[in-house]
Amino acid sequence: MDKELSSKKIKDQALKLGFSACGIAEVSFLSDHRPRLQKWLNENRHGEMGYMSNNFEMRLDPALLVENSRSVIVVLQNYYPEKQLHPDSDYLISRYAYGEDYHFVIKDKLRKLQTFINNEIAANQSRVFTDSAPVLERAWAVKAGLGWIGKNSLLITPRNGSYFFIAEIITDLELAYDNSYGGNFCGDCRRCIDACPTQAIGQDRMIDSRKCISYLTIEKKGELPEELKGKYKKWIFGCDICQEVCPWNRFSIPHNESSFELPAQVQGFKAEDWKDLSKETFNSLFKKSALKRAKYEGVMRNMEFLDSDE
Ligand code: SF4
Ligand code: SF4
Repeated sequence: MDKELSSKKIKDQALKLGFSACGIAEVSFLSDHRPRLQKWLNENRHGEMGYMSNNFEMRLDPALLVENSRSVIVVLQNYYPEKQLHPDSDYLISRYAYGEDYHFVIKDKLRKLQTFINNEIAANQSRVFTDSAPVLERAWAVKAGLGWIGKNSLLITPRNGSYFFIAEIITDLELAYDNSYGGNFCGDCRRCIDACPTQAIGQDRMIDSRKCISYLTIEKKGELPEELKGKYKKWIFGCDICQEVCPWNRFSIPHNESSFELPAQVQGFKAEDWKDLSKETFNSLFKKSALKRAKYEGVMRNMEFLDSDE
């Protein structure tokens, strides 16, 4: 099949499956990203995420993930929720974690797209990825023409802002490619830098995970840094502040993925409901949720850390 037509069919199918956008980039070695990634790791800005320093070359070279790979098919999945925790809620969790764990939801849909490509376009060797392997997802989204990387280090789409998951299929199929996204429309804005309560966003547009509430409330094991006490606002899992203040997110529209909805019961949770949660109730309420990454003990630790400042 003609490459242009193949790419069009893949993109149409991605949208039919409920993805918000799809772009396709030609596989290449991401040499431009090497110095920044190296600097970020050398300065230990990845904190305790030791896995980030593994497979350094693989992060820059998709050919090491899929032999003879030619194309990176990048899809975006909107997770901006219509029903949100009220800003006056006693505790807040990041919007991306409201519903079922995105890894499973997105991988299901990606596999359907993979099957479609095999059956309707051409037999090919491919792998699907969603935040699950050493892939520089934001870099590929830019190369696939979907947006630019903002000062908050997130992918910003000009049409609908930044509340998106990014996922990829890397394949040995040759396709027609999108132009890399030209430009960066942050301009003089620095709202995300100024609003970050822990000054985790550097002037060099790189995040210091060791100060980032998102990393600290989810990935960090053990004690939380005392010097950041009083700066966590109300976040007990993740943090959306640098997205909430981004002017491009005035274009966010609600997602259409029912599995990303916040459980109705949690919608009206007060401080005492969170504090009284037993491990059993937590595990049943958030059975399929990304909150399980921090586990019951982690979420409770985060709450205690907030409360100890009052
Ligand atoms: S997620 Fe929160 S803490 Fe991390 S950089 Fe953004 S505003 Fe700062
Ligand atoms: S808040 Fe401003 S500087 Fe930060 S990502 Fe958005 S547009 Fe860019």
